[in-house]
Amino acid sequence: ESLTVAELAKKLYREPSEIIKKLFLLGVAATINQQLDKDAIELIASEYGVEVEEKVIVDQTDLETYFTEDREEDLEVRPPVVTIMGHVDHGKTTTLDSIRHTKVTAGEAGGITQHIGAYQVKVGGKKITFLDTPGHEAFTTMRARGAQVTDITVLVVAADDGVKPQTVEAINHAKAAGVPIIVAVNKIDKPTANPERVMQELTEYNLVPEDWGGDTIFVPISALTGEGIDNLLEMILLVSEVEELKANPNRRALGSVIEARLDKGRGPVATLLVQNGTLRIGDPIVVGHTYGRVRAMVNDLGRRVKEAGPSTPVEITGLNDVPEAGDRFVVFEDEKTARQVGEARKQQAVQAHRNETARVSLDTLFEQMKQGEMKELNVIVKADVQGSVEALTAALQKIDVEGVNINVIHTGVGAINESDVTLASASNAIIIGFNVRPDNNAKRAAETEKVDIRLHRIIYKAIEEIESAMKGMLDPEY
Ligand code: GDP
Repeated sequence: ESLTVAELAKKLYREPSEIIKKLFLLGVAATINQQLDKDAIELIASEYGVEVEEKVIVDQTDLETYFTEDREEDLEVRPPVVTIMGHVDHGKTTTLDSIRHTKVTAGEAGGITQHIGAYQVKVGGKKITFLDTPGHEAFTTMRARGAQVTDITVLVVAADDGVKPQTVEAINHAKAAGVPIIVAVNKIDKPTANPERVMQELTEYNLVPEDWGGDTIFVPISALTGEGIDNLLEMILLVSEVEELKANPNRRALGSVIEARLDKGRGPVATLLVQNGTLRIGDPIVVGHTYGRVRAMVNDLGRRVKEAGPSTPVEITGLNDVPEAGDRFVVFEDEKTARQVGEARKQQAVQAHRNETARVSLDTLFEQMKQGEMKELNVIVKADVQGSVEALTAALQKIDVEGVNINVIHTGVGAINESDVTLASASNAIIIGFNVRPDNNAKRAAETEKVDIRLHRIIYKAIEEIESAMKGMLDPEY
């Protein structure tokens, strides 16, 4: 029920000093041997994306089941999990197809590629896992549900078109998640291709090629002809080595749902990405708030498999209900516990929905600050013209209220869209619209996700509103 800072740090594989710092930023002064209550544990756990499990575990089950620390000697190198992002029509799908065709079918004669939401390729004996749904919307929707599955982002930018609004969105979504970016400058086969321009434009977003003194890898490719694809794959493996991605294959599996649906004949079907441990046929499993036993497993080549190790995507059947993309899954020792936890989680989900999550909003900032819940306000700025975006962003960043930081995590020209709302939801941000409105999808999403959208037509009014909310945020002794 209760843990000390040191014990929690161990379970999260972090240094106690890091946990103490996090707690401090959340307004809790703690020492290493201090007992933390359930709320503090949940808060910290959620900072590391382990929110949902933690809640249940703290309530229902032994924490050890999930957070047994893997010993260094048990860890083995695992394949990187890659998401492709970029502006529409810049070649994300073609790139995914090109990689799949050159690498999968060649060595795997007879394998009928199945679209299960992710696939694996082998490059010189090493594997890479690609998520098959390109784009930052899927990426951030999963993140909003607590799943951090992507290790590396490949940002596809068409060399004949350059940096576009969704390129910028993708950059900001990847940065908000702390995921490294490799830039694939695509369509270099086109006579109008101008890779230099793409590189130039991206320097504005701190993506600077190594030749120019930066540390971003740029790979020129043509998804259409296949040129540069091998090079791209090598670069992915290079970054993956630097990141030292590891997992322990010899433990019960845990991971995330990539996609799920109801199949008429087979019942609930879910594609799971194993993130640690090994998943086996017959394993008792809790997935989000569904549960069951792994009845059958199929890989991305449509072949039946008996087990799946770290970074492997598999489609499974055997669940009592359909989970959602981004739900976390955990394998249990026995089916009875899995069922109990599954049922408990369902109850909790219903309850949580009733209580409604505490999202940041200008109206409640004051309260949240008083409770020490927030020292940083994340903001997304959308406006009708670039000039206004810049003016508003600059004015926001000039607001100087002690104890509170404004952090502009994304800006853009045009209507507030669903992607903005998803990013706000995942990053607990508010959205300011200047001379723009949310489109219908965004409106609906903001309502469900409880994202605070503020619309303004006069810059100083927008600033005034934020400033007064922030002043309210200050502790009394200031
Ligand atoms: P997405 O919207 O980012 O997934 O883009 P698509 O992969 O659907 O590609 C959009 C269009 O660009 C399609 O007509 C592709 O055939 C074309 N395309 C993609 N990559 C290349 C390339 O390397 N060279 C050329 N010439 N066309 C490409």
